[in-house]
Amino acid sequence: MKRESPPPADKGRTPGGWPGVGPQLAAQLAKLDLRRPQDLVLHLPLRYEDETRLTPIAAARNGADAQIEGVVESCEITLRPRRQLVARIRDASGTLVARWLNFYPSQQKQLAIGRRVRLFGPVRGGFFGDEMVHPRVHPVAEGEPLPDGLTPVYPTTAGLAQSALRKLVGRALATVPPDEHLPDDLLAALGLPAFADALSALHHPPPDADAASLEDREHPAWRRMKFEELLVQQLSLRRAYNARRTRRAPALHRTGRLTDALLAQLPFALTGAQARAVGEIAGDLAAPHPMQRLLQGDVGSGKTVVAALAMLQAAENGMQAVLMAPTEILAEQHWKKLAAWLDPLGVDVAWLSGSRKKRERDAELARLAGGGVLLAVGTHALIEDPVAFPRLGLAIVDEQHRFGVRQRLALREKGTLGLHPHMLMMSATPIPRTLAMSYYADLDVTVLDELPPGRSPIVTKLVTDARRDEVVARVREACAAGRQAYWVCPLIEESEALQLQTAIETFETLSAALPGLKVGLVHGRLKADEKSATMAAFAAGALHVLVATTVIEVGVDVPNASLMVIEHAERFGLAQLHQLRGRVGRGTAESVCVLLYAKPLSENGRARLKVIFEHTDGFAIAREDLRIRGPGEFVGARQSGVPLLRYADLERDADLLEPARALAERMLKDAPAAADRLMDRWLGGREGLLRA
Ligand code: ADP
Ligand code: MG
Repeated sequence: MKRESPPPADKGRTPGGWPGVGPQLAAQLAKLDLRRPQDLVLHLPLRYEDETRLTPIAAARNGADAQIEGVVESCEITLRPRRQLVARIRDASGTLVARWLNFYPSQQKQLAIGRRVRLFGPVRGGFFGDEMVHPRVHPVAEGEPLPDGLTPVYPTTAGLAQSALRKLVGRALATVPPDEHLPDDLLAALGLPAFADALSALHHPPPDADAASLEDREHPAWRRMKFEELLVQQLSLRRAYNARRTRRAPALHRTGRLTDALLAQLPFALTGAQARAVGEIAGDLAAPHPMQRLLQGDVGSGKTVVAALAMLQAAENGMQAVLMAPTEILAEQHWKKLAAWLDPLGVDVAWLSGSRKKRERDAELARLAGGGVLLAVGTHALIEDPVAFPRLGLAIVDEQHRFGVRQRLALREKGTLGLHPHMLMMSATPIPRTLAMSYYADLDVTVLDELPPGRSPIVTKLVTDARRDEVVARVREACAAGRQAYWVCPLIEESEALQLQTAIETFETLSAALPGLKVGLVHGRLKADEKSATMAAFAAGALHVLVATTVIEVGVDVPNASLMVIEHAERFGLAQLHQLRGRVGRGTAESVCVLLYAKPLSENGRARLKVIFEHTDGFAIAREDLRIRGPGEFVGARQSGVPLLRYADLERDADLLEPARALAERMLKDAPAAADRLMDRWLGGREGLLRA
């Protein structure tokens, strides 16, 4: 990333640049991602302990943390009920037992009879009466003053004591200047304290601090830190966005020669949302810098035709376009669909997948390398080495969340002539607005918020495993009425072999239970041509029932299938269930999705089934999913290359997002040096991969 100003002085991220921290300590700190004093300044407490007050022993409440001070009355090692160190402490109000199951000889010395000590920990009624188990001990002189602030408790790691961490943080706070980088007017408008004040409120809250608002992170000091964190995320993503706009891409103007021909020949009219998406993409493609657009639309919203029109716009300009899909089945389906649409226009589409015969593959490669064919569809085989697109103008990634950053980058790198291709990412995982505004701030987003007309809603049923026979009867009825059914076998994460075995058994039992009906089976271990023959037979109606593993999860489109049975639905994630259910309801027939589940249900399993039962709207499901799993898992942020948020919570702190976005724009224009320093403060070289 380019810097407009010299890097800040405290750039040092090397362990050597950290005085007083030896290699062993440095290694422990690194586990917490703490690599320089600046990082410790932003290592914020999880919670606080109140050691500013003493509680008389008699007044200590059961279960609550308390600090007591008293004199050691007895201290001994007992062997029953087990070996432990047991001390009795007395203050003016009563006595209390403290015990340790693990202890050092030095502890015994600290607790010599007659010594005055302070103990901190939760008090419980126990075997010996009121007691503290493993309290913190602090020998004191009579009348020793109490701390003048709440004691912070930091996230730590095995072998790194709170006391050591506290000391390190204290030292860092004393050496790293708490520079203010945010404009006063903005702080005032948002009611946020200065950075220095926020730091001191969080690391050293005064005794009268509002401990509750500190702990639930609603305190203005927390809001200040969360705002900065969100701001930095926006800065880094907007920088990436702006950097890409300085790159060159071929300007692909829409002539209408092929695009209009396809529109004229489609058996349907575009929905309003599709027409809008096509317009936005057409505008991007005509610009001389690369498009970076995410096309987001719920399962069945019709993204493929939007992709096809974009590809044709490239072809109208004599440039190549590719569409990459995550599975063989989906890639082949796309290829067939595109071929059916484009053949009549005289436009040829190449198809590349890892499993095609070498001879066929070489022939496709030669056609692409010669520029003789402009459009290609495939799996990640498209980004492998010998594959070349001399005139790549547009790269489309379907189900983009299934690919990592590196794969998306590799696709982009296929562009030659010193030009970057335009990129269109497509996803059926609807992203809640707050997530889109944060993790996807470097993309332009188009949402298909409308389904094609004439779809009948899918009815979802929850059925226990014990009633399987009724479900089989339902399959029989649906097929007798001329419909088709999917039967999805359980996900067995621990063992692919077991998953395969279950699929084969299910196939056999269903074949036996449904005489007269044709049952097919697809799973990941089949050879590609077997898989594709089975899919083709199902699509053509030659098979009534398709038993499948999750290989059919994404994208598969067979409108006559109206019944989906998912076994052990409780094991699937919400996005997966929504995707699977979306395989039906694509035609005009009333569709049903049966979720078979086995008891007992885990709490999370139950929560997921409830969500999928109650909601059909992908956005609502995504919102719930985000709530259950958190954003890191949700967007696959770990592999997205975007720095994760440590403190800000996109649901709770949504109100900070818009001002953070606005300020990021303003800073990048008017105060790029301050933007640099802020990014260094929070990321310090950890920006990670910029996204493809
Ligand atoms: P997804 O967004 O899930 O990828 P698809 O592109 O597979 O959806 O489209 C789902 C189905 O809807 C396909 O059979 C497609 O041909 C059909 N379709 C797409 N757009 C329209 C439309 N405007 N009107 C009617 N059917 C449509
Ligand atoms: Mg699709």
